[in-house]
Amino acid sequence: MTVTNFWKYTWRLYYAVLDLFLPPTCVGCEKVDMWLCDACATKLPLLTSQPICARCGKPWKGPGVCLMCQQAPLQVAPIRSAFLFGDQIQTAIHALKYRAGVTVIPPLARRMAEAWQAYEMHTDLLTPVPLYPPREIRRSYNQSALLAQALGANIGVPSREVLLRVRNTASQTKLKREQRQRNVKEAFMCMPNADVAGKCVTLIDDVATTGATLEACSIALLSQGARMVSAFTLARAA
Ligand SMILES: [Zn+2]
Ligand SMILES: [Zn+2]
Repeated sequence: MTVTNFWKYTWRLYYAVLDLFLPPTCVGCEKVDMWLCDACATKLPLLTSQPICARCGKPWKGPGVCLMCQQAPLQVAPIRSAFLFGDQIQTAIHALKYRAGVTVIPPLARRMAEAWQAYEMHTDLLTPVPLYPPREIRRSYNQSALLAQALGANIGVPSREVLLRVRNTASQTKLKREQRQRNVKEAFMCMPNADVAGKCVTLIDDVATTGATLEACSIALLSQGARMVSAFTLARAA
């Protein structure tokens, strides 16, 4: 048995037992046996109706771009997100990452497509932020790759994995902006057959916080000749 298969079957068993004792419940209405029902997915408020920074996409009431983008703008731009990170979306992402709740993907991808159209985004290629390979093997999937595929199918844009995470990085949750930038520096590179030269590429991830990870990915893509790198995430941490 390969290591990949070992983890796949171990997790499958683990989740089956967990689901038996702690069954999935919809993050909106607590209906049992699903993480997000269609009705609740449709009701989740999109970030598209709120004022945001024209560049980094975080909530911002002032004109133009936010203070951070005025002082130290990232190369990855624009960054846009379908939802604000909080309550139901946070629980749905947790289910997606830690409970193998991949059933949240189709309804969320549908809403992401709606936000994508509202923001009037355009690109040649969607590409997910990669996980460090041992982590992906343990989880048996990369949630961002699944989101990219599903979104791509909804908006008619190809989705392809072109980045590699060559270094494991510490969890970013407790780090400040500068520490995050240092933490992910040189953690990503393009695959040899990435073929991104001259293309507009959009990075797909579950959550954008400071944008440090997206920026590190965009540096790798730009160094391989990508014309422009933007990002679109499921959620935005304020
Ligand atoms: Zn529901
Ligand atoms: Zn900004």
